[in-house]
Amino acid sequence: MREYTAAAKRFYDSAIWIKCRKAYIASVFNLCEKCRRPGTILHHKTEINDANINDPDVTLNHSNLIYLCIECHNDIHAGRAVTRDDVRFEDGQLVEV
Ligand SMILES: [Zn+2]
Repeated sequence: MREYTAAAKRFYDSAIWIKCRKAYIASVFNLCEKCRRPGTILHHKTEINDANINDPDVTLNHSNLIYLCIECHNDIHAGRAVTRDDVRFEDGQLVEV
């Protein structure tokens, strides 16, 4: 597992994130957005770091989130592309089409 900074841990424990996470997961019916099996991990497409941890456009923006099962999440971290109809990878960035 990755190590979180103190700021990231505070964020992931915050009521606003827990509420955002719950609302987002409900909006995708608890299913992995890639393969439609039950999901487990809510992934930030733009990864959270100390520079953007206080920017709600990054941390709480639904368009920066994707709900995944462990297998599909591992694919992302292995550098394999996520395929969705409404987004594609461009220069390593996920962009809306
Ligand atoms: Zn999946």
